[in-house]
Amino acid sequence: MECTRCGACCVAPDIAALDKPLGLRCPHLGADNLCTVYDRRPQVCRDYQADEVCQRIEAPTLEERVHKYLALFELTHEAERVRQGGCSSMRQARRG
Ligand code: SF4
Ligand code: SF4
Repeated sequence: MECTRCGACCVAPDIAALDKPLGLRCPHLGADNLCTVYDRRPQVCRDYQADEVCQRIEAPTLEERVHKYLALFELTHEAERVRQGGCSSMRQARRG
């Protein structure tokens, strides 16, 4: 499975190493949907491999791909809550 550099994996999942909430764009993702810190991206990003999920979320726009990713993992509602609550409440929730 080849990575099409669609950017969905830099938007959809939450990435603890980056304090990146679910469903929100990584601040390091450029306007062209490529990583702007590629050479110093965290290990979790280095380890990420394109797999069948990439195929299953195929869609014309990034927004649709992110939507499909979240739906695939049944995270749509949680992502909506995060969006409404904002990043800070997500961080507080994580710190418990
Ligand atoms: S979701 Fe898959 S195809 Fe898209 S950028 Fe990430 S690894 Fe590549
Ligand atoms: S650091 Fe780069 S590779 Fe990692 S999620 Fe952000 S934009 Fe994507």
